[in-house]
Amino acid sequence: MTIKQKAVLVCDRLEEKYPEAICSLDYTQPHELMIAGRLSAQCTDERVNIVTKELFAKYKSIEDFASADVNDIEEIIRPCGLFKTKAASVVGMCRAINERFGGRIPDTIEELTTLPGIGRKTANLIMGDVFRKPAVVTDTHCIRITGRLGLTKNTDPAKVEADLWKILPKERSSDLCHRLVLFGREICKARNPLCGECPLADLCGGPGKKGGR
Ligand code: SF4
Repeated sequence: MTIKQKAVLVCDRLEEKYPEAICSLDYTQPHELMIAGRLSAQCTDERVNIVTKELFAKYKSIEDFASADVNDIEEIIRPCGLFKTKAASVVGMCRAINERFGGRIPDTIEELTTLPGIGRKTANLIMGDVFRKPAVVTDTHCIRITGRLGLTKNTDPAKVEADLWKILPKERSSDLCHRLVLFGREICKARNPLCGECPLADLCGGPGKKGGR
C-alpha cells in the first residue's frame, strides 16, 4: 500500500466514525473563528469557548475589535493564558484587516499570516472553515496521530503540514483535521490510546507496535 492509499483509508474510516466534521471552536462569524483560533494557542478549546461567549457578546464585529480597549480584552480573555500578547494581537489583527484589506478577511494563507498573531495553523483553519478551500491544520492531535500512523516522520508543525499536503486528498484534508481532533480525544489519546477500539489499528505503527512511538 502506498502512503497516499493509506491516507485515503484514514480519511474513509474516520469519516465513517465521525460523519460530522465539526470545528471544536464555537463561532458564528468568520472573524470570530480567527480570534478563537488565536486564543486557542496553549489553551484548551473548551476554555476558549467559555471565554469567547462573553467576548463575542460584547464585541460583535471586526470594527468593534479594531476600536476596542486592549485592557478590556485582556481582562475578558485572561483565563486563556498569554492574555496580554493575545489581546494585543486580537485588536491588532482586526485593525490590520481594516487598514490593509478593506475590512474583509483575506483568503490566502500568505495574506492571513501577515496579520498579527495569525500563524499557519489558524490561517489553515480559516481557509478550510470560512473559505471552504483545502487546508491542513496541524494541531497537537494531527501531529501525534499522523506520526503514529506513519503519514509523517516529522513533529515540527510546518514540516508535518508540508508532508500532509503531499499525500492527503485536497478536498478532504480540512474535514480530516477536524475528525483527528475528535479521534484524538476519544481514542488515539496522547497517553494510553485505546488501540483495542481503534478503527485504524491495522494501519498503525503506534504505541506498542513495531516502529511506533
Ligand atoms: S492503533 Fe492506537 S496509536 Fe494507532 S491510531 Fe489507533 S489508537 Fe492511535
